[in-house]
Amino acid sequence: MLKNVPLSIFLLVYIGFSLIFHQAPLVSWLNRFTDFSTISGLSALLFIELLSFLLWVLLLTPFFIISIKLGKLIAVILLILNATALFWMTSLGVVMTKAVIASLFFTDYSEASGFLNDDYMLHLVLLGILPSIVVVLVPIAPVKRRVLCLYPILSVALIFTATSLAPNLTSWVNANGAQLGSRLLPWSYIGKTINYVRDLRSGYYGRYFGEFAQLPDGVIADDTPGLVVLVIGESSRGASYSYYGYERAVNTATQNMGYVALPISTACATSTMITTGCILSPHGRDDWEKEPVEPLPSYLHRLGIKTFVRTNNTEMPRLKVGDYKTTEELAELCETDYCKAYNARSCENQLCQESYFDNMLLANMDPILDLAQQEKVFLLLHLRGSHGPNYADRSPKEFRPFTPACDDHVTKCSLETLANSYDNSTAFTDQILANLAKAIAQRQNLNAAVLYLSDHGQSLGEDGLYMHGLPIDEAPIEQLEIPFLLWTSETLKKTYDISQVVNTNVAAQDAIFHSVLGLLNVIDGPYDPQRDIFQVR
Ligand SMILES: [Zn+2]
Repeated sequence: MLKNVPLSIFLLVYIGFSLIFHQAPLVSWLNRFTDFSTISGLSALLFIELLSFLLWVLLLTPFFIISIKLGKLIAVILLILNATALFWMTSLGVVMTKAVIASLFFTDYSEASGFLNDDYMLHLVLLGILPSIVVVLVPIAPVKRRVLCLYPILSVALIFTATSLAPNLTSWVNANGAQLGSRLLPWSYIGKTINYVRDLRSGYYGRYFGEFAQLPDGVIADDTPGLVVLVIGESSRGASYSYYGYERAVNTATQNMGYVALPISTACATSTMITTGCILSPHGRDDWEKEPVEPLPSYLHRLGIKTFVRTNNTEMPRLKVGDYKTTEELAELCETDYCKAYNARSCENQLCQESYFDNMLLANMDPILDLAQQEKVFLLLHLRGSHGPNYADRSPKEFRPFTPACDDHVTKCSLETLANSYDNSTAFTDQILANLAKAIAQRQNLNAAVLYLSDHGQSLGEDGLYMHGLPIDEAPIEQLEIPFLLWTSETLKKTYDISQVVNTNVAAQDAIFHSVLGLLNVIDGPYDPQRDIFQVR
């Protein structure tokens, strides 16, 4: 039997374990600009670790003051969360920001299950579950509450002393607080979750629950029928598009259909939730800073324009539209080859939830096209696109122009097979866009346009980074640059000189709201012709 361990020793070992095994993201970040072999580099690291140690004591002891059992429970929860966060941060290069925390709350199960792989389970067992078992089993000697209350008091006193004695290091820590805090476990996810909850009540995320401010009413200036389709892609990066110089032919289908590329531009953020918000907002990239206003589809629906939304993704702002369908609902309406060609992704493991490929978004298009021949219609498609971590799941097995493909988690594939799988997903998106234009082009004399852009870019292993989600000022170009494509029907080409439109200098995510309004001729109100790519010369 183990003898009772004093709480001070327990805390020392527990915090020591976390500082040694859970700080890899912090150390590798510090290592970028600090030389640990010098006295100043080493003292910076030790200073941060000392503060971290004292903050740990401050965090844990109040729970142990209430009861030893509660203290142990919190210690176990933090071990499991630390191990999980550490895995994402080290394997994917994710940094814990408020947007990443928010995405976790809005991510559906099928998306999250992509992260649960063997590596993660091994990592969780070694750095989370095994030490948790030790925490549960080790007996802690009873300790007087009066004595225990001294721990946080002493910690505060020591933090105060340390920061006073090292003003240079303290001001450096203050100046880099945001970047440091995003990497220091467990403070990163605790702090960002508190920020997120605070924002939920009053700030940006309110738009996912609360009411939007109504936009001023615009005017529908004519009654010409027509169709505007906005397609929001997922994790499509400009660098991997043939239109922008990528050597592989991933865009052949859209090029054959007459799509044109507008200049590559940068996304407003690197998280799906924030970027879909910008794309659908009159404020574009400034949307994040402003009070929530009704998104484009809700605005058009309120003005009386027939609005359809079809989604195979999550994390769009809450929409009020007449017709909103998920791919599960569309699957019941699928009768054409466009959606029948590939069926549901088969589930080969228990964690997978049945889902559909993006071509299901093209199910039952006829009623929409019929309507567009009589009145103005807006259709929004939100693709699953190239969502990671398993790109091979984004296109059917029969659709693999590039092989060998990577059938696994992003970090378990060679860079070459990873690029193959990613390019397969891009080519699959390309085929869907081409089929969309094909379906529309079958209708004679229809004024119609398709606008395609991505929510953000994607890292494919460059500098050890994968996926997306880095803070905007740290994100590499691959996570920011997005494609912007346009297709117009022959009828619409009579109204606009497309060779001029493709020279626009308005960034895609700033342009969408106003360009869609311009195409539908909904003027005044929030419409800004300066951001309408069909007006700017
Ligand atoms: Zn996204």
